[in-house]
Amino acid sequence: MYIPGPFDIVRIIELEGDFRVPEFLLPDATQDAVRASKIASDPRFYNAKTHMLMMSFHTFVIRTARNNILVDTCIGNDKERPELPDWHQRSGSFLRDLAKAGVPAESIDYVLCTHLHADHVGWNTKLLDGRWVPTFPNARYLMARKEVEHWSYVRETSGELANHRSWDDSVQPIIEAGQAVLVESDYEIEPGIHLIPAPGHTPGNVILHVSDGTQRAYFIGDTIHHPLQIEHPGWSSNFCWDPDESRETRKKFLDDVADTDALIMPAHFATPTAVRILGSAPNSDGYDFEVATKD
Ligand SMILES: [Zn+2]
Repeated sequence: MYIPGPFDIVRIIELEGDFRVPEFLLPDATQDAVRASKIASDPRFYNAKTHMLMMSFHTFVIRTARNNILVDTCIGNDKERPELPDWHQRSGSFLRDLAKAGVPAESIDYVLCTHLHADHVGWNTKLLDGRWVPTFPNARYLMARKEVEHWSYVRETSGELANHRSWDDSVQPIIEAGQAVLVESDYEIEPGIHLIPAPGHTPGNVILHVSDGTQRAYFIGDTIHHPLQIEHPGWSSNFCWDPDESRETRKKFLDDVADTDALIMPAHFATPTAVRILGSAPNSDGYDFEVATKD
């Protein structure tokens, strides 16, 4: 699959399939509403037989002339997540797949976590001799200051089990190793590549804007989890910290990129993953979209 876009963009899939019913993710997505939606007849996004959403957990690497920038680090291997069997003590081929794609862990210059949920920080670290160490030895790990402050407070007040233990095994070790760089929510990595604040899903959630001067892409993390939310921007997820603010952020973002050639790269859209937002969808307050990737 070829992902167009500014610079070279590589996608590494950690986990993909039809493993969540719509209501698990989106409380407003009733069976009737999903079956009436545009995506209901598209098996790339929805499995009508099992009534499950197609979803993916993947990482993107943007290869510019100066930097290899890795966006969101998925679930990770060996993590203790007993409450979520498909995230628990994984032993997947993620690191081998990165190397095979020409971007081994040592070649990564920046890691950007769009937010600090457990499925976006997992490969920040790997288990080595019983200790969690940074997976990307030469990378600066960019984290929005506001996001770190929020989850550090949650960890302090709610204990180690908060956020599926991921503060202790995937964030704190990066800070202790001196590789975390706390940045403002509009930080520029290099010309054309900067963060945009997108609060709601989490308080310090950010989008990465990437432009090479000709093409534009937005790496939006969980600002939109599933294509259903393009047609229904009002549907916030069960995992949004502030569903109202998340809805507002999503609507504004979609409004900004509708009818432009900007590429949208969400963290959980199953293959073919990258889309462009078109104009208003018939009979809804949302938008149409087209797939931007090529086979
Ligand atoms: Zn996520």
